[in-house]
Amino acid sequence: MSTTADAIRSADAHSAHTYHPLPVVVASAEGAWMTDVEGRRYLDMLAGYSALNFGHGNRRLIDAARAQLERVTLTSRAFHHDRFADFCTELADLCGKEMVLPMNTGAEAVETAVKTARKWGYEVKGVPDGHAKIVVAADNFHGRTTTVVSFSTDHDARDHFGPYTPGFEIVPYGDLTALSHAVTENTVAVLLEPIQGEAGVLVPPAGYLSGVRELTRQRNVLFMADEIQSGLGRTGKTFACEHEGVVPDVYILGKALGGGVVPVSAVVADRDVLGVFRPGQHGSTFGGNPLACAVALEVVAMLRSGEYQQRATELGDHLHHELGLLVGAGAVTAVRGRGLWAGVDIAPGHGTGREVSERLMDRRVLVKDTHGSTIRLAPPLVISKEDLDWGLDQLRAVLAS
Ligand SMILES: *Cc1c(COP(=O)(O)O)cnc(C)c1O
Repeated sequence: MSTTADAIRSADAHSAHTYHPLPVVVASAEGAWMTDVEGRRYLDMLAGYSALNFGHGNRRLIDAARAQLERVTLTSRAFHHDRFADFCTELADLCGKEMVLPMNTGAEAVETAVKTARKWGYEVKGVPDGHAKIVVAADNFHGRTTTVVSFSTDHDARDHFGPYTPGFEIVPYGDLTALSHAVTENTVAVLLEPIQGEAGVLVPPAGYLSGVRELTRQRNVLFMADEIQSGLGRTGKTFACEHEGVVPDVYILGKALGGGVVPVSAVVADRDVLGVFRPGQHGSTFGGNPLACAVALEVVAMLRSGEYQQRATELGDHLHHELGLLVGAGAVTAVRGRGLWAGVDIAPGHGTGREVSERLMDRRVLVKDTHGSTIRLAPPLVISKEDLDWGLDQLRAVLAS
């Protein structure tokens, strides 16, 4: 029996079946490539859902982590540590905001944003206590906690996890009129992904994000952008909101912020918003720990150069040009996305998203399917053009067979 089959059987026996991974067992990785336990190399075209924007084992990030590992890794927030102020200052500056509230995972950052909006609603806007509403979009993905799945429209994510947290209003994504009708005097925030990743890399209609910005400003409602997957270079800009010249009130960040090394997330906003918190009202033992801050500081420094955004733009133009040709050839019904990020709908007769992912795996390319007939492409931003072209060759071969 192969090492791969053994490892998968063991995992199936002893881990809860919350995922349906492709049958590959990774042992090491570098840049855009992963190597499995049997020495086979695979091109990573998923990049940990954008957590690995800077690639596997990125030298700068590993060096930053290693240096910090030797000094101090955890203090808890009971004490200050010497990487905390720099991290908050630099990240706030990258976002053009004043304050940072660090957490660990994306879902925690979303929870933090929900608490921020409610508290702001009661203490600043003057909403009667207990009546705050947050408007969200259908087909959203904001994480897996009980409150977050309370406003999911995905049955797998939501069913049998109730009773659900109240206070959320769901409107169709991309529909400004519906959003406008859903906003009342008790609405404290609109929470949206500027591009819906899990839904299949859905880009909203032009003018939507700027319309949301305009509406929320007029109605005294916070615009909270979940840029956990879309942010930090993926779309060719530091934030996907920038494509419409939009600055939200609240950025929710995660995934790539931890450089693929440690979980780091954050809520970033101005003082009139994040200033609502007092000691004891929110927190996390690991949030803002020295190791997390050291890695995230390096991530911010890397994003400052603009190099990764530039790569995402150039390689992304190439990716979308090539995928567009597949639409023309009939193997693919639609391609969506921005920068180095694409949702590809496989034409009927060419296999399900899962089947295409498995056939790509056989050709040593790793992607993830979503919603039956879609595959998602989001290679690390450090991928070379040659490797990207090789990956696209494999996709063409799979769709031709
Ligand atoms: C991944 C993701 C989350 C949740 O992040 P976790 O770290 O998995 O908790 C939330 N929002 C978006 C848009 C995401 O892509």
